[in-house]
Amino acid sequence: MTVWFTGLSGAGKTTICKFVEKKLRIQGYRVEVLDGDAVRQNLCKGLGFSKEDREENIRRIGFVAHLLTRNNVIVLVSAISPYREIRQEVRQSIPSFVEVYVNASLEVCEQRDVKGLYKKARAGEIKHFTGIDDPYEIPLYPEVECQTNQEIVAESATKVLEKLQELGYVVALSR
Ligand code: ADP
Repeated sequence: MTVWFTGLSGAGKTTICKFVEKKLRIQGYRVEVLDGDAVRQNLCKGLGFSKEDREENIRRIGFVAHLLTRNNVIVLVSAISPYREIRQEVRQSIPSFVEVYVNASLEVCEQRDVKGLYKKARAGEIKHFTGIDDPYEIPLYPEVECQTNQEIVAESATKVLEKLQELGYVVALSR
């Protein structure tokens, strides 16, 4: 399956992804991670942050996720993916798709400012920054919602893993 983590920058997508990846690998699953930041260095190099470019970015990630998924690799995607419609389009193209809304308020993400990007966006040094001067459309029916301002990482990751078990995509995982 493809597990698609969406949320604001700094919400916790990468962190939860890594935790889930580790747990699945221990169980012997083949896992691939497609991280938005990393993908923009190669597969999606040259794409910017306009709506069109963001859509193209997601479409390419979705395409690779689809190829891997159909070969029984578990794909964990970590990408802001702010637009609902394109997330929906990717969902339609992948038969076993699990959407995880990594939810933390803008205030919390900005306070964390893991990569120092909010500061730059507030200073006007970065344009089209999601949450500041670009939209984020929250998922309406995500399979999982992690509230990372209230949960520790292990709790958020466990929510994801339990949903994967419930859906029958993975067998029971040891804690
Ligand atoms: P993103 O990939 O969404 O941009 P990161 O994973 O890079 O975000 O950063 C999220 C930050 O929030 C990390 O510093 C992480 O330690 C912290 N954090 C606090 N609680 C959680 C949680 N429950 N899940 C994930 N990250 C959390």
